[in-house]
This record gives sequence, structure tokens and C-alpha cells, in this order.
Amino acid sequence: MHSEKTMKGTAKTDLFRKLPSVDELLREQGVAALVARHGSSPVTDATRTVLARLREEIASGLLDDASLGLALAGVNDAIEKQILEALRPSLRPVINATGVILHTNLGRAPLAESVFEHLSTTAGQFSNLEFDLEKGDRGQRDVHVDRLFRKLVASRGAFDTGSAEQEAQDTVSTIVVNNNAAAVLLALNTLAEGGEVIVSRGELVEIGGSFRIPDVMAKSGATLREVGTTNRTRIGDYERAITERTRLLLRVHRSNFEIKGFTEQASTAELVNLGRQRDVPVVEDLGSGALVDLQNFGINGEPNVLDSLRAGFDVVTYSGDKLLGGPQAGLISGRRDLVTRMRKNSLFRALRVDKLIYAALEATLLAYVKRDYDGIPTLKMMSLTKGEITARAEALVANVHSPNLQLEILDGESVIGGGAAPSSVLPTSLVAISCAGLSANELSVRLRGGSPPIIARVEQERVVLDLRTVFPDQDRVIATAVAGIAT
Ligand SMILES: *Cc1c(COP(=O)(O)O)cnc(C)c1O
Repeated sequence: MHSEKTMKGTAKTDLFRKLPSVDELLREQGVAALVARHGSSPVTDATRTVLARLREEIASGLLDDASLGLALAGVNDAIEKQILEALRPSLRPVINATGVILHTNLGRAPLAESVFEHLSTTAGQFSNLEFDLEKGDRGQRDVHVDRLFRKLVASRGAFDTGSAEQEAQDTVSTIVVNNNAAAVLLALNTLAEGGEVIVSRGELVEIGGSFRIPDVMAKSGATLREVGTTNRTRIGDYERAITERTRLLLRVHRSNFEIKGFTEQASTAELVNLGRQRDVPVVEDLGSGALVDLQNFGINGEPNVLDSLRAGFDVVTYSGDKLLGGPQAGLISGRRDLVTRMRKNSLFRALRVDKLIYAALEATLLAYVKRDYDGIPTLKMMSLTKGEITARAEALVANVHSPNLQLEILDGESVIGGGAAPSSVLPTSLVAISCAGLSANELSVRLRGGSPPIIARVEQERVVLDLRTVFPDQDRVIATAVAGIAT
């Protein structure tokens, strides 16, 4: 008599014997057809993977004679599925139902439609990225963004003296680097290497992902000269710290936090005047880089680039993919002589961006020039009223029919995210979902496991969806996915 253990062992050996070899499988008609379609090496790899999986399943006792027979009958399908999975890009679209508009982990700003048109006409071909078509000679890649930024500055009369248009043409330049961290590094290195930069102790910030002002300062070769205290810094503090070693006064926007209570900060006008008097440039690390007045969207306290330049900052650095709503980039706008020095710095060569980014930025800035704010998804999402979102939430709830699900509409708040406007929230309506027999966590895992994955918030043991950050044509996708979870 065999013990049960040995019997199982024998059975397993038999099962292993039933597995075809890779070569045998590749000679089979169905698999050969896959080779014709996908090429031999992906099919061989997939075949190996599928056989290895079956071997594992036999070893762990998951398959018996009958189920192995079924698995082998469907082996062609399994191989094809494996091929498609292996060839699927790892970077995939997701539905952002978190209500966080600039979600750094979800790629910050989604880009405007016009960006894709511009990319598709320029990126797949040669372009005049750095070629002056008039002179037939080498040109500068900055011109594509620089000219549009000047138009924006001019159209808003950022400079009050004389003809705004002319003034802007003469004085403001813009260059583009990889991100705002790079922009700050380039500005400090160019303007202050070997010298001192004065910064208020209330502005020695860390922005997510290890961007810290003292660290960037050290890397730039400039010396940080802290003044004032965490909560209060007066203009006199800056004034007393200026020596012949001073190269810059730096203001860092408190993008992702606030200081409240007994506080004081030198005003922009005071800083700018001091810089002028002592002939020291004043630079602002603005961060989020809005190009329109965000008060129109109910967001207070978030300065915009044009206002900063108008107020007299010599140079402003900001991100392309925060409130500007474009691709990841760092923009440096300001006094032409200073920006030209940055362009000539060899570090600029290391930080410069590709034609894809220029194309994306150019199309985004063109939308601003045309005042097509609805065309920029970030601005569009900010501008949605609670009423509009409620109507969509109600339609979604009406579209989900499942006895196991409970859907409810709640008042809630969306946030800007991306280290911008930390205390500004936008009123919204949330769809709260609960499902009999599933925890909120399990429910959110299932939503995330769908195709496309849906990223939701979990609040007070409930999954909540904020449609503010969902594109309207995705509402139906969500309704179908939610209904599917409970079945
Ligand atoms: C976001 C931010 C940065 C970093 O910008 P990235 O484009 O993410 O590199 C730097 N400074 C401030 C004030 C910011 O808000």
C-alpha cells in the first residue's frame, strides 16, 4: 500500500510527464501561428513562462489530471495572453478620482489636446528646434517658448512704464530646463557661485521628493546666508546681512505650507527696492507658476508669474507641470542680461530639454495666448463648479445598478496638490461607495486592479470618488467598473 503522500508524489510525476517541451509546443499549429504574428522570440519567452507556471502549479498541488488537461487545451490562449502582457507598456493611463488636481504620483498636469496635435506634427519629423529658418543657420531652442512668454507679459502690461509691448520685448527672457529644481540650481550657480545668497529662515523649505533649499544651495556652489527667524523676517534683517560677498536676495514661495500667528515677512516691494539700492538681483523661486489670476477660480494666495515680474523680481523660476498645466519643465523668466548668463552656463547644456517638451510647452502657452483656458485640463478642472460635479455624480449613481452596492453623494473638498495653494480647497461632491462583504480597502484595491485602474480615496471606511479630476468621458467607465465589482 502506498501512503497518501507517495501516491500524490507519483501522481505529480505523471503530471509533469504530460507537460510538453517548449520545442514541442512551438511546433504546434496554433503556437506557430502566434510566431507568425508576434515573432519567434516573444512567443518562445511566453511559452517558457506559461510552462513554468504550469510546473509550479503541479508542484504546489493546484492541478490534477483533469484540470491539467483543461489547461493544456487552452495553452495557446494562455501563451497569447502572456505575450500581450509582456509587450504591454508599464506606463499606463489611470483614472484619477482622488480630487487632487496636481497629483505628483499620477503625473501632475494632464496635457491639453492641442499639445498632442503639435507633438504629432513635430516630433515624428525633423523640426526647426535649433535652426533659424531665415538665416539658414543654427538657432536657439529657447525662442519657441521665449516669444510666447513675451506675448503673455506684454498682453498683461506686466511692465507699467511706457509701451508694455516694447518693454517686454526688451527686458524679459525665458529659458527652459528639466524642472524647477534644475531652474533654481541653474539660477543660483550662475548668479551666486562663490558668493552668498540671503534667504529668510521662514523660507528654507523642502518640497516633496528631496528638494531642499539648503541642499540645492550647497550644490550650486553658493553660500546660504540665513536671516530672520522662522516666523518673522524684516527687511532690516536682509539689509544688515548684505556685504560685498552678497550675490542674490532669494525669496522662496511657501508652496506647500503656511506660517500662521505671530508672523512677519518683508514685502515684495521692500525686497525689490533693497535689491535696486544695493545693486543685488532679487530672485523668486515661485514654484507652481500660475499664468492667470487664480482668484478667478476661488484660489487665494497663489501668486502668478506675471505679477511677480511686474512687482519687480529680476528673475522668477517656476514649474511647467504645476499650475501652468504643461509638461514637466522648469522655466526661468526675467531680466534679459541675467537669463542670458544662465543660458551661457555649461550647466544649462546638461539641464536643457528635448523637442518633445518644447512642443508641449509651446502648445500650452499658445492656449494661454488665445485665452483658451478651458483647453488646459488643469484650469478646466479647477473651474468646475460644485453644481456641475454634483450633476455628473448623480448621473453616475443612476447608472450603477447593483443590489450589493450602496452609493451616496456627499459634500467634500478637492485640493490643488503638487505643492501648490496648500490651504485652498474647492467645494465638490463625492460619490461614496460601500459594498456588502467588502472592506473599503478591498474595494479600492479592486478599482485599482481594473483596466484602466481607477484611483480613489478611502475616507472613514468608505471609498470616495471625486469627479472633479475625472475627464467627463470617463464617468461611464467608472460606472461600469463599479457595477462590475459587486457582481
Ligand atoms: C514645486 C516646487 C519646486 C520644485 O519644482 P519641480 O518642478 O518639482 O522640480 C521648487 N520650489 C518651489 C517653491 C516649488 O513649489
